[in-house]
Amino acid sequence: MKLKQFYTGGALALGLAVAGSAWAQTSTAAVTQGAQAQDNRLVLLGTQGGPRVGVKRANPANLIVINGKKFVVDAGYGVSMQMVKAGYRLQDLDYIFITHMHSDHTLEYGNLFYNAWVTGGLKKPVQVYGPTGMKNMTEAFFKTNEIDITTRIADEDRADPRKLIQVHEIQKLNPVFNQDGIKVSAIKSIHPPFDETYSFKFEFNGKTVVFSGDTAYNKDMVAFAKGADYLVHEVQYEDGIRRLAKKLAGDKQSAEQQYQHFKGSHTNTEELGRLAQAAGVKNLVLTHYVPGDDSLITDAMWEEGVKQFYRGNVVVGKDLTSIDL
Ligand SMILES: [Zn+2]
Ligand SMILES: [Zn+2]
Repeated sequence: MKLKQFYTGGALALGLAVAGSAWAQTSTAAVTQGAQAQDNRLVLLGTQGGPRVGVKRANPANLIVINGKKFVVDAGYGVSMQMVKAGYRLQDLDYIFITHMHSDHTLEYGNLFYNAWVTGGLKKPVQVYGPTGMKNMTEAFFKTNEIDITTRIADEDRADPRKLIQVHEIQKLNPVFNQDGIKVSAIKSIHPPFDETYSFKFEFNGKTVVFSGDTAYNKDMVAFAKGADYLVHEVQYEDGIRRLAKKLAGDKQSAEQQYQHFKGSHTNTEELGRLAQAAGVKNLVLTHYVPGDDSLITDAMWEEGVKQFYRGNVVVGKDLTSIDL
């Protein structure tokens, strides 16, 4: 496995590519986009599970670049800025895939597309694949920004952005997408109370990369991710969700109910280790940490439960972790 670091101050260093607290600092990772134009690469744009905004991590989003095509998988808050920090031009965006309609995965969906458009370089439509509701969300976004968009079209001679996006609400899981030697298939994940929540598998050039989306332990993932080069999987930490549940408890839901919600809809470190071992994936990439902002949980603690069961390589993902594919 090759992990590459971004250019920082003109020096290219090899190693784990984590731009420190890049979410909080704006001066890191100034990569020239040309250097990465034809890369096959996975970049974790945001690794904090849940909708809360913090300074440690951006909200969930990933970039996978395959044969020059740019796919964003989930569009949590911060995705546009994180993509720029990773060294990519927003107007080069080709595809957006959304795993489910929780706001930590969709809140910047419209704005990501808008930012790609408003830079002026968007030439061909961005193709969007996601659950039922994506068409409504897209129309509502254009309605919300109608005055700005109408003004810019007239005043700045811009193309109509409504003609530069095509939304496909997922009907068929295998394949969801199959073009230019890139196949994307899906399985339903386990993330109540939602029914339509997906895990996605990207297959290209003999490689396989799987994104879990949000899910409780899903035995179907074992076959779906069998032998994958990379499984990018959400994770939660037992003691951390106990603490978080206490913090979130309110009039309507007790700490115990909050805790049970986490247990029923996400995967803990030990469960994930067992799953990754059963699937025989080559590399397991941790992301969507719940809680992602608990300073008591160290990288070693995130790995510990996983490594009790999984013998392959574990990457404790950070914002802007970048992996050569
Ligand atoms: Zn989430
Ligand atoms: Zn969710």
